[in-house]
Amino acid sequence: MRIILLGPPGAGKGTQAKMISQRYGWPQISTGDILRSAVAEQTAMGREAKKFMDAGELVPDEVVIGVINERLTQADCQAGFLLDGFPRTVGQAEALTTALAASGGKIDMVIDLRVEAEELVRRLTGRRICRACGQMFHLEFSPPATEDVCDQCGGELYQRADDNEATIMKRFDVYRQQADLLESYYATGGAYHRLDGSAPIEEVRGALLALLDG
Ligand code: ADP
Ligand code: ADP
Ligand code: ZN
Repeated sequence: MRIILLGPPGAGKGTQAKMISQRYGWPQISTGDILRSAVAEQTAMGREAKKFMDAGELVPDEVVIGVINERLTQADCQAGFLLDGFPRTVGQAEALTTALAASGGKIDMVIDLRVEAEELVRRLTGRRICRACGQMFHLEFSPPATEDVCDQCGGELYQRADDNEATIMKRFDVYRQQADLLESYYATGGAYHRLDGSAPIEEVRGALLALLDG
């Protein structure tokens, strides 16, 4: 299956994508993670992307489309994949459709996780991530057993630079500018499903699995 997870910052895309990926073996492809690695490694692309990410703005379409096109040609994507954080604009969605069509493929399912803004702010300000393995935690909603230490690998937990209140608000604005357009783009194909993401992690997971297995 080729799946897209849509939804605002903090909706739980990464959290759910990791679980689906482990269960079905489809790779989770997060443009945010790929871009943050490039920033950490200070590649030319990373240096270019950093300004946009720090400001809560979108990295230009050409850059992320290039990243995705390269990633999707790798062997592990042949049996399916899970996109988390891409596409974020109609331009990106069109480029993805074109890239898949070139090899006779298409997106099988688009799942749009929706959560109200107040809850999203709580999720994003409390989010902590493992520097070593990328596992997501939340200070209140899914705390690690030991403060600042990853349950899975013992790595150090950190807070993303853009998970501060001012940048979060900017990211919401950017999201709202694109959300309806993206929904319209996918609504006609029959693959689009909106899912309430406001329940606890395990409940959202159950609803997602029901959709995937149904
Ligand atoms: P996204 O990838 O959509 O930005 P994340 O998966 O990183 O979102 O989740 C944002 C934060 O909210 C993380 O700290 C995560 O642990 C927490 N979280 C995710 N899903 C839920 C949920 N259903 N209920 C409560 N907290 C959640
Ligand atoms: P979240 O889901 O919590 O908002 P992401 O990790 O998906 O965070 O994205 C973090 C930042 O990376 C975005 O604010 C943006 O600057 C950049 N980014 C990630 N994916 C894309 C994309 N598909 N198009 C443009 N910019 C992106
Ligand atoms: Zn870890």
